[in-house]
Amino acid sequence: MIYAVLLGVACGGCGGGSPTAPSATTTTTFSGIVTNIVTGAVVAGATITIGTVLATSASDGTYSLAVTTAGTPSFSAAAPGYYTRESAVSMSGSKTINPEIIPQGDGFNLEFFNWLFRENGTKGTERPVVIPNYEIWTRQMQCTELSTDGYDACKRMIVIADSIPAIYEENIRSGIAQFGRLTGGAFANPTITTKTHPVDLVIPRNDWLTANGTVSLSYFPAGLWSDANSDGNNAYMSMGLSSTQPGHILHGWRAAEDLGIVTHELAHSLGYGHPSGREKWPDSIMGDYQDGGYGISAADELHGRILYKRPYGSLTPDRDPAGATIN
Ligand SMILES: [Zn+2]
Repeated sequence: MIYAVLLGVACGGCGGGSPTAPSATTTTTFSGIVTNIVTGAVVAGATITIGTVLATSASDGTYSLAVTTAGTPSFSAAAPGYYTRESAVSMSGSKTINPEIIPQGDGFNLEFFNWLFRENGTKGTERPVVIPNYEIWTRQMQCTELSTDGYDACKRMIVIADSIPAIYEENIRSGIAQFGRLTGGAFANPTITTKTHPVDLVIPRNDWLTANGTVSLSYFPAGLWSDANSDGNNAYMSMGLSSTQPGHILHGWRAAEDLGIVTHELAHSLGYGHPSGREKWPDSIMGDYQDGGYGISAADELHGRILYKRPYGSLTPDRDPAGATIN
């Protein structure tokens, strides 16, 4: 009886909520300099719009405008020969906004960017927002059960006594050493650790014994998984790029010896993808596999740098997702 009364009292406050305070109108003067994100050159004649207020950048790229409004007004930076940068502004955020806008040229290719990072433009970018840790599993794994969904994924694996080949660990470390190039310096030098599981430990899929924010790297010798996946030439990554949940990279024994393939899988963990159309971009680390191996192209570097200068969920051509502010 007492419990019921208390419950009633507790719920009395649940539905009401607090009244919404009227949002205050404030005036803020924003200023900054507009530049070309590829070349760094200042952009004159760009139209900066915050809410309903416009300003035009001067010959030195600078602009200034006073905005009186409530909430988070829209933001855009537009200039001939550039993709319009669209976002929103926090009235209480930084008063300096330096838009780096994307040229329609200078090496930037929207189709390539959309292919590499936006599933050919059908969705926003997906990349980690916190630099992951990488965990090298030092013992080889043997898969004992494959999925029956047509993907031949490993559903259950067991730790065997053999150590991974030295070349695999070298390739992982060499691939990770390229992260500065793949992220415009944003995610250079992640933490790399090693993990040695007890022999005969059974690890089911979806219970990888891996901490959030960590990407494991495991090696599969000849056997069930490698044999079913291109005779050891395949590699695979699974990861929730929008969160800090663990990620997992599996390498077949042949793929593990190939620095390009190892780097390719690591690039997946940074938000690089390859939807249909791989054949159009043979030089990319995500393009069709080339004789002589994969490498990171200058275009990968340029577009990867821009990926990491935009928030998670950046939409084509250059629009921040709902809720993001530029300042
Ligand atoms: Zn891939």
